[in-house]
Amino acid sequence: FKCLATILKALDALIYVSDIETYELIFFNQYSKDLWPDVSQKKCFHIVHNKDDSPCEFCTNAKLIDEHGQATGTHLWEYQDPNTRRWYQCQDQAIQWFDGRLVRLEIAIDITDHKLLEQQLRVAHKKASSSANMDPLLNCLNRRAFFERFDAVLSQCQRHKYPLALVMMDVDKFKQFNDNHGHSFGDQVLLKVTAVFAKTMRESDIFARYGGDEFILALPNTTQENAVDLLTRIQYELLQLELSPESDFSITISFGLTSLIEHDTIDKLLNRADIALYQAKNSGRNRIEVYRSPHGEAPSTKTPENQ
Ligand code: GH3
Ligand code: MG
Repeated sequence: FKCLATILKALDALIYVSDIETYELIFFNQYSKDLWPDVSQKKCFHIVHNKDDSPCEFCTNAKLIDEHGQATGTHLWEYQDPNTRRWYQCQDQAIQWFDGRLVRLEIAIDITDHKLLEQQLRVAHKKASSSANMDPLLNCLNRRAFFERFDAVLSQCQRHKYPLALVMMDVDKFKQFNDNHGHSFGDQVLLKVTAVFAKTMRESDIFARYGGDEFILALPNTTQENAVDLLTRIQYELLQLELSPESDFSITISFGLTSLIEHDTIDKLLNRADIALYQAKNSGRNRIEVYRSPHGEAPSTKTPENQ
């Protein structure tokens, strides 16, 4: 027994044995003594939970033996000491003691550092996945994140036959802001544009930087007419922007708009919005151009009311 106690002493884990019926501590290794110097003549709940009259509410003794009084095997769980805040991985099992009775063997390994690392990894992972979705300059969604979200929105609108508007847009003559006032002034222009959209959008809308000075906006449950109204409001908001006290030029954007039709795909929608944007640029910029098919018809949309 002495030899066994020496082995257990060397282990970097809290080990104790207690009577399953009376909770009396029968054995405890050096680790336990270092933690709780005065353990002799005590019951396990006296030291584990500082309780003097009743077992701990999380006591696992009942799980360690079955209805026939046989050991059920190892019960693995994690416990945080409310006083020290340290975490333990506990392995509890009923074993037969020298005198024949079934006793509780508790082996608790301090996993606080491991838990801390786990938490740091979770935070780092959250940060990494959020930066993979966000544009670092404008703090809006990037193109990758747009497609991830748009895919779900498109299927939903198609399933329920809801209208959906898609807008491709590009800042007009943006190069001149960079060329005349420097790149960081250009950055400020893009930030102001993004702020206008952030202020105007609904939660279900998806706004993202498509690249450079190009943006994309998906408006679920929005008819083409309502989308035009919204973009007109945005044009007005852009005109109100003050770039700098002495500047007398304004920011304008060209918009290419299309809406969902039957049997649409992401590629078809994007292609139509892109053509409409090209038409807006070619027709003088600062315009909302609605895609029209080569036959001159704009694609028809359904609204929830006319289903
Ligand atoms: P257009 O009306 O035809 O769109 O003319 P434009 O001058 O806006 O031409 P274009 O859209 O092709 O120019 C985009 C420019 O945006 C080119 C690139 O140098 C600049 N740009 C791209 N990303 C950034 C950025 O993050 N910050 C700044 N300041 N400029 C950028
Ligand atoms: Mg541009």
